[in-house]
Amino acid sequence: MRVAVIGAGIVGVTTAHELLCDGHEVTLYEQRSSVAVEASFANAGVMAPGYVTPWAAPGMLRKVLGQWGRRDAAVRIAGLPSAALTAWLWRWWRACDPAEHTPNRAAMLALATRSLVRTRALSEALRIDYERARGLLVLLRSERELAGSRAGLRLLAELDVGFHVVDAAVCRRIEPALDASTVLRAGIHLPSAEVGNCRQFALALKAELQRRGVPLKFNQTVERLTPVLASGPHRMAQGVEVTSWAQAPDAESAFAFTQGTSTSGEREQERFDAVVVCAALHSHDLLRPLGLRLPLQAVHGYSITLPVRHFEAHPDVGPYAALMDERYKVAISRLGDRVRVAGGAELGGLLTQHASAPIATLHRVLQDWFPSAAQPGRAQTWKGARPMLPDGPPAIGASGVPNVWLNTGHGSSGWALACGSAELVADALAGRPPSMDTARFSPLRFRA
Ligand SMILES: Cc1cc2nc3c(=O)[nH]c(=O)nc-3n(C[C@H](O)[C@H](O)[C@H](O)COP(=O)(O)OP(=O)(O)OC[C@H]3O[C@@H](n4cnc5c(N)ncnc54)[C@H](O)[C@@H]3O)c2cc1C
Repeated sequence: MRVAVIGAGIVGVTTAHELLCDGHEVTLYEQRSSVAVEASFANAGVMAPGYVTPWAAPGMLRKVLGQWGRRDAAVRIAGLPSAALTAWLWRWWRACDPAEHTPNRAAMLALATRSLVRTRALSEALRIDYERARGLLVLLRSERELAGSRAGLRLLAELDVGFHVVDAAVCRRIEPALDASTVLRAGIHLPSAEVGNCRQFALALKAELQRRGVPLKFNQTVERLTPVLASGPHRMAQGVEVTSWAQAPDAESAFAFTQGTSTSGEREQERFDAVVVCAALHSHDLLRPLGLRLPLQAVHGYSITLPVRHFEAHPDVGPYAALMDERYKVAISRLGDRVRVAGGAELGGLLTQHASAPIATLHRVLQDWFPSAAQPGRAQTWKGARPMLPDGPPAIGASGVPNVWLNTGHGSSGWALACGSAELVADALAGRPPSMDTARFSPLRFRA
């Protein structure tokens, strides 16, 4: 089949590659100049199936309200919530019910487990050399945090996820550079989790797609998808027409993105047998004219990336792998000769506006745990938008519009879920029975 994939973040790139492996003739459209330029650019890189969980969880509302107004709150609402955000929050709150959360979490865990296996297989088969390390250590600062984690741990045990609850001394053996003066009550160690550089992986797949002759249409914004129907009484669906226009391939385009305007107008139309929409938050605008309303919400977060101090002389200084500070919901990741610290969840506001409080929290958490690992003055700051659906699982599969397929809405776990989601899409297009239950990922669950 001739298939167009729209969006070249980690989800689109892995989808294009999986479809290519299935023998399809793939074209990849991306409005920016390369792959992994938006949400996939500088995320924390954590792939821990046991911690891939819906944001909509029992007790979450109480946690959010408990931190309300604090400068270091993990979740913030910027300004007054819009009508769309209020409607999204309502759906999110309803999905916090255990009857919704438990099956959603189990489905996401199953997909993340499959995804990690596929990520490892691909990196081996294609010899992808990217910054990566094994293990996630969740840091619990107090007795209260340890007690609060018990219900989640029971669920992990039920779902057969390998983890150990360890005391502070063992935490310091796993991560010897942890600062001794910061109070640490206990840790949860997930030895089979991984941390890896998502953008490097996406760039390696881009090179593979190029090598295999896939047309990569960078600086090409898809504006419209039009189902093509046969003439005659039955009006059978015959494919999808993709209308796109060329975007100026330079710094000018960054300005155009923030303004929501175009800079050049070369229009192009091409017909495909099928289209897979992997356009994250922008998927909503592409799908609405087709009668699909995906309730996607930007949940902004920040990361700082710093070079490890004296890396040449002491490459083992600083964190070895991934850590999560449970109190602040901040991840600390080792990526080669750099440390990345990521967190914060901001609803509303603009991607281009950086708030100082969440960035200060990232610096503070790094200072608490690894005060001498990196040079704070050399931090690169990034803000990204997690494409979040209210109940948690991404939307993967048939859209309900003939020949239009979806792979979008991966929220805070797009890297951890990408390779598995791509496999599900490839199975669906090929008509193969899926190797797992996909009901919780159906895009049709949002139909009114
Ligand atoms: C601070 C932070 C930390 C995170 N940490 C982790 C983590 O540790 N582990 C994890 O698994 N996930 C993490 N995430 C989430 C993860 O980064 C996202 O889920 C993932 O990057 C989403 O990938 P995507 O391909 O769907 O979106 P994107 O990377 O945003 O890609 C979508 C692409 O579609 C393109 N596009 C959109 N519309 C069009 C159009 N009309 N025409 C052409 N192209 C179009 C866009 O330009 C973009 O490149 C984190 C996110 C943030 C913000």
